[in-house]
Amino acid sequence: MTRHGPVPPVWLCATCSAPWPCATGRDELLQEFAASPVALALYMNAYYVAASQDISWAPAGTLHRRFLGWLP
Ligand SMILES: [Zn+2]
Repeated sequence: MTRHGPVPPVWLCATCSAPWPCATGRDELLQEFAASPVALALYMNAYYVAASQDISWAPAGTLHRRFLGWLP
């Protein structure tokens, strides 16, 4: 698990308080899942589903881009 992890239900980074996944968190996840990008996509999709329930006021598409749009 990365140190730059999410803090539900606000979904800010536990370490730098940026909207999660923060830039450092994304880098750490890419390194952690370097050998298995499919697993990373599934992992982030689970977070996306949970966050979209917590942040139901966010504009459509914004959370999807934030959680999944940066994946390789
Ligand atoms: Zn962070």
